[in-house]
Amino acid sequence: MDGAWLASAGALDAASGSIELSVVVPVFNEEANLPRLHAAVVQALEGIAFELVLVDDGSKDRSVEIMRALASAHPEVAVVELVRNSGQHAAVLAGFTVTRGDYVVTLDADLQNPPEEIPLLLAELRRGHDLVGTFRERRLDGWLRRRISEAVNVVTRASLGAGMRDYGCMLRGYRRDVVLEVIALAEQAAFVPALAMTIAADPIEIPVQHRERKEGSSRYSPLKLMRLGLDLITGYSLLPIQLVSLLGVAVAVLGTAFAVFLFLRRLVVGPESEGVFTLFAILFAVQGVLLLAVGLVGEYVGRIYAEVRRRPLFRIRRVTRGGVEVPAPVVARA
Ligand code: UDP
Ligand code: MG
Repeated sequence: MDGAWLASAGALDAASGSIELSVVVPVFNEEANLPRLHAAVVQALEGIAFELVLVDDGSKDRSVEIMRALASAHPEVAVVELVRNSGQHAAVLAGFTVTRGDYVVTLDADLQNPPEEIPLLLAELRRGHDLVGTFRERRLDGWLRRRISEAVNVVTRASLGAGMRDYGCMLRGYRRDVVLEVIALAEQAAFVPALAMTIAADPIEIPVQHRERKEGSSRYSPLKLMRLGLDLITGYSLLPIQLVSLLGVAVAVLGTAFAVFLFLRRLVVGPESEGVFTLFAILFAVQGVLLLAVGLVGEYVGRIYAEVRRRPLFRIRRVTRGGVEVPAPVVARA
């Protein structure tokens, strides 16, 4: 397994050379945004040796057709087609496996991250940082979307220790060695920015603009987003389960103290008869904690289960460069 990875990484390195920057964009039903995205990236990167890696994450609209047309007309465009919808982060990982640049920048297809900012990230990478994160100063998304993201960011920072301000912003820059490490370490439910943060030796975070989505609406429903948040939290730390253990200790201590109190009260005032509802309240509280604890343990067991199965995170159907099909990279894991 590791051998296959090394082979893959070697092939990637042999292929690189003249390209300084690979821009990786996951695409899920973005037909209306693609032509504009390509034009904006080309314009922003004038004078830079770059490639644009578009990863189709099982789109149901005309995205693939448009991507193939772009690849035929423009030699800098590479297209990775996944067999089915595998999620934004799996799509980014698939894109990583074909990149050839010394640096890689990821970007969303909906132009919420302005491509004009890519050179700012490139400048930081050239300066020697191995990871460039970004945070959105004035975020233009719906209210609920922003609140959920904030909660995810707070918990992620707590889980990872000192971290970045904005894990949701996918406009990010990676040095090649970090990219290779991310591919090799990617697990089920991988969250690329957080994983890279655990790898990077010299990360930096810079402010970027944020725009409204050009076409269509977010491909994340609130539920999909909360599941991503839960994946992220349980994927990078044992903090939640430790907090629940601490809560369990606190509840047990309080419960014991309460029992002692009731016993003493019985000796002094006699047996109580009206305390039934108090007991119910306590019982419900304890049961809530228990359910939460069981759920959390299940979450970790589920992750172990997913890891043990070692199913691939994505499957590549086809890779095209300049309109010509090229062999897909060897991917044993991720
Ligand atoms: N995306 C993807 N697979 C998915 C969902 C989203 O490749 O299952 C892509 C999508 O096309 C876009 C990026 O991930 O390029 C971010 O998605 P979106 O804009 O819907 O997320 P938001 O901006 O709401 O976080
Ligand atoms: Mg978006």
